[in-house]
Amino acid sequence: MTTISIIGAGVGGLTSGIYLQNNGYDVKIYEKNNHPGGKMDIIQEKGFKFDTGPTIVMMPDTYKKPFLDSGVNYEDYFTFQRVNPFMNVITNHEKMALSSDLTDIAKDFEAFGDAEMLGFLKYLTDIYGKYINAKNNFIYKSFRGPKDFFNVKTLWHAYQLKTFSSSYEAISKNISTKALQDLMSFQTLYIGISPFSGPSIYNIIPMIELVYGVWFIKGGMHEYARALEKRFLELGGEMVYESEVDKIVVSGNKHVTGLSINGVVEESDAVIANADFPYTMTDLLGIDDAKKGKYTAKKVQNMDYSMSCFLLYLGVDKKYADLNLHTIKMATDFKKNVEDIDTGVLPEDPSFYVYNPGSLDESFAPQGQSALYVLVPVSNLKENDQWSTEIIDIFSDKIISRVEKELSLERLSEHIVYKNIFTPETFKNRYNSAYGSTFGLKPTLMQSNYFRPHNKHAKIDNLYFSGASVHPGAGVPIVVTSGELAAKEVMRDF
Ligand SMILES: Cc1cc2nc3c(=O)[nH]c(=O)nc-3n(C[C@H](O)[C@H](O)[C@H](O)COP(=O)(O)OP(=O)(O)OC[C@H]3O[C@@H](n4cnc5c(N)ncnc54)[C@H](O)[C@@H]3O)c2cc1C
Repeated sequence: MTTISIIGAGVGGLTSGIYLQNNGYDVKIYEKNNHPGGKMDIIQEKGFKFDTGPTIVMMPDTYKKPFLDSGVNYEDYFTFQRVNPFMNVITNHEKMALSSDLTDIAKDFEAFGDAEMLGFLKYLTDIYGKYINAKNNFIYKSFRGPKDFFNVKTLWHAYQLKTFSSSYEAISKNISTKALQDLMSFQTLYIGISPFSGPSIYNIIPMIELVYGVWFIKGGMHEYARALEKRFLELGGEMVYESEVDKIVVSGNKHVTGLSINGVVEESDAVIANADFPYTMTDLLGIDDAKKGKYTAKKVQNMDYSMSCFLLYLGVDKKYADLNLHTIKMATDFKKNVEDIDTGVLPEDPSFYVYNPGSLDESFAPQGQSALYVLVPVSNLKENDQWSTEIIDIFSDKIISRVEKELSLERLSEHIVYKNIFTPETFKNRYNSAYGSTFGLKPTLMQSNYFRPHNKHAKIDNLYFSGASVHPGAGVPIVVTSGELAAKEVMRDF
């Protein structure tokens, strides 16, 4: 039987494991931590439970796919619940509840004039067309070599995406009210890129929220990681926890023979690295560039990295009845805020996001209490590595007082009975994410699509990749797709 080793039990590694194991391969997943999920992590302490990473569930059909494709009913593994209105957004002009119901949307946009609703519908038509193009020709297709992209048909489809303007510019073509432009553009932050510089194709994110809805997984996001792990184990896969791979063993710069874990070599026929791609290239393939193809140490260092996050996990001994599942407070000057993040400045007036799963699910906190998650987008460690204890304390106090004031959470600071903090350093140390960037390589035009690292190594013939820094990119459903594509690349060769 063909043996496959996977480095990392993130969403990408677990998905690849399910597809391969289901197709008759013998798969072992080595994970440095003691549980599955990678960034889809969990903290359970003092009666509180926190999803630490992803919280917004979009594209539910993609979550179901590894279960359906391996012949089981996803409902036996996890439970979806639709959330609508799905997001409260506070800008300096407005407080709005974003809905994926067209009747609600019409009411909100028409309040700014009929032309704004017409503009919204034009935006939707345009971006939906591009989404269909991207879905059929790029997202679900794996690239190996130049011929897969540089052919007339694919280049024509790429041209049709017309993705040369920024997300914000593209929105502004159809919608002229600033508050509505802000409302339709902050979503590129979900994949760690500014709407003012990121390619316009990422306007598909707000479209996906509106067209396919936003969902919640009962028990929290980590339940999905547990569901993937359960399916993988049922199919006969093996999980090896607390096993940090220290080296990918390569013979003759051409062929992987196995993985070194604490100096002991475990052989296999092929390897999928779900560990972050830049870290894999620099730390697991060693210092010799000869085997790395175009991703030499220098090239990897010079690549663009997505932003990171500063997160507070707060156990609070009261409930805030008016606080819904998802709330975003945008900075007063949103453009300056994202420019600061891109240039290593800790924002004075940050945007932040608050997740209150207790509004839907009693399992997160003791009765009458709440487990709140506060996310602040900040620079990655390449742009700013100044995270001393003093800075963390000051920033954390500042954020808590902002959340209290802006969301009218009465005396929040006095009701905190548990606090945990993740900084960009946590992402680097806990998951080996290069520069602590939370969404992997930045999805710039030159690091998207064919130009993002591929799911199969160009030079080493049995090394493959799944995860946020490789094709098709970051975000749970896209990483699930990456896991499937990497597994299919293995199946093509073995
Ligand atoms: C704070 C935050 C909020 C987010 N919000 C959302 C959201 O709302 N919706 C959404 O769709 N997406 C969201 N995302 C993005 C999404 O979570 C990620 O894109 C996705 O989970 C990444 O999965 P992955 O498999 O690529 O990598 P990872 O989760 O990083 O998994 C890689 C795994 O490899 C392991 N590993 C690394 N090195 C080694 C080694 N040497 N040996 C063994 N194991 C190793 C790591 O421990 C880890 O378990 C969010 C991410 C973060 C951090």
